[in-house]
Order: sequence, then structure tokens, then C-alpha cells
Amino acid sequence: MDRIKEIDYDLDVAREFIPEHARYHLAKSLSLLPEEIVDFVVKNLIFISPEDYRYIKLDHWIFKNRLGIISLCPELWKEEPLEMAYIIAHEIAHAIKDDTIDMEMEKNLSLEEGEDVEIRADRLAVEWLSQHYEERELRKLCRYWKEGT
Ligand SMILES: [Zn+2]
Repeated sequence: MDRIKEIDYDLDVAREFIPEHARYHLAKSLSLLPEEIVDFVVKNLIFISPEDYRYIKLDHWIFKNRLGIISLCPELWKEEPLEMAYIIAHEIAHAIKDDTIDMEMEKNLSLEEGEDVEIRADRLAVEWLSQHYEERELRKLCRYWKEGT
């Protein structure tokens, strides 16, 4: 089995709320990350990217023993592979660092604290993906980690 198929299989219920056509893109994006990060993702996270409206009760067995949920905009699946991989890696970085919630939603964080959290997520995403992409290309996608910092 190639790595992408293997990851897709290992994701199992973690990709239950990802549209069929996007599952390959998710697995492909994850395949670009270091192995220990993928292990963490498969075990701890759930991805959702609903194309319609739905109610999901949080005590559903799918969420049992999971650390968090990564919500991905359905528009993401139309982006270039690099952008997809970067966005997914950035969100995973928040999970790895046990951040509570993404800054844009977290009104209690001061701007400075929030930016630190975001820059840290950007840095990790760039570090992980730099095995496959030029750091210069990755840095262009960073929303918080600006050139010269
Ligand atoms: Zn973020």
C-alpha cells in the first residue's frame, strides 16, 4: 500500500465528515508531514469539512478520546497542493501545541499572545513541510510569520 492510501485507511473515522472527493487530498497533505505528526493526527484528531448543514452531537463515539476537531473550509480542496498542505499543517500545529482555539475565534487572547500562537503554528507548518517544499514558497503562505521576523 502506498503512504497516501495507508494514511487514508488509518484516518478511519477521523475523516468521516470529509467529502469523498476530498479524502485523497487530505491523506496526500498529511503524507507530506513527518511520520510522528501523522501518528498524532490519526490518533487524536477529527477533520470536518461539511458541504451541507449538519448537527453532530459531541458525545458521539467518533469523538471519544479525541483531543480536538480541525474544521476545514470546503473551498480548501480547490487550492494548490502546497496551500492545502500548509493550511492543514498550520491547524495540526495548534493541536500539537495544545492551543485552545484558533486566534481568530479566541477573543480572550490579547493580540500579542494570539500572534505568538499563530506565528508558532506557522513556523511548525513550515518546518514540517520544508522536507518537500522550498521554505521561500511556504513563507509566502504564512499569514502571521512575516518576512524579516
Ligand atoms: Zn492559526
